[in-house]
Amino acid sequence: MTDPDCLFCRIIRGEVPSKKVYEDDHVYAFEDIHPQAPTHVLVVPKQHFAGLKEAQREDAEIIGRCHLIAAQIARLRNIENGYRTVLNVGPGAGQSVFHLHVHLLGGRRLTWPPG
Ligand code: AMP
Ligand code: ZN
Repeated sequence: MTDPDCLFCRIIRGEVPSKKVYEDDHVYAFEDIHPQAPTHVLVVPKQHFAGLKEAQREDAEIIGRCHLIAAQIARLRNIENGYRTVLNVGPGAGQSVFHLHVHLLGGRRLTWPPG
């Protein structure tokens, strides 16, 4: 369920400090420590799994739920004119923490394609 050495599991357990944005029984959201936009929130399932590549059919609901929470935070932050949810999958795409997380980025103009 949780991984003792995983940074985001430790954040969820409160062993590593974070700026909490949202929490329910299944999801935890907090401010990214190196924000890439005025809003940069990470939305993570409380249950540990490494990433989208490792996700199973039964994880579909929690992955969807993380995105819906991101949409709810975007609404509250008034950034609905344009925001982005991002899942970096694998080191080649910049994934550095291997506990699935949805980035919510917004509050500035976002270019396409992303880098
Ligand atoms: P990724 O590169 O997609 O795996 O995203 C990992 C994100 O976690 C990066 O945007 C980091 O800035 C962020 N991060 C790393 N350590 C912390 C921390 N202690 N608290 C909040 N965000 C963190
Ligand atoms: Zn974890």
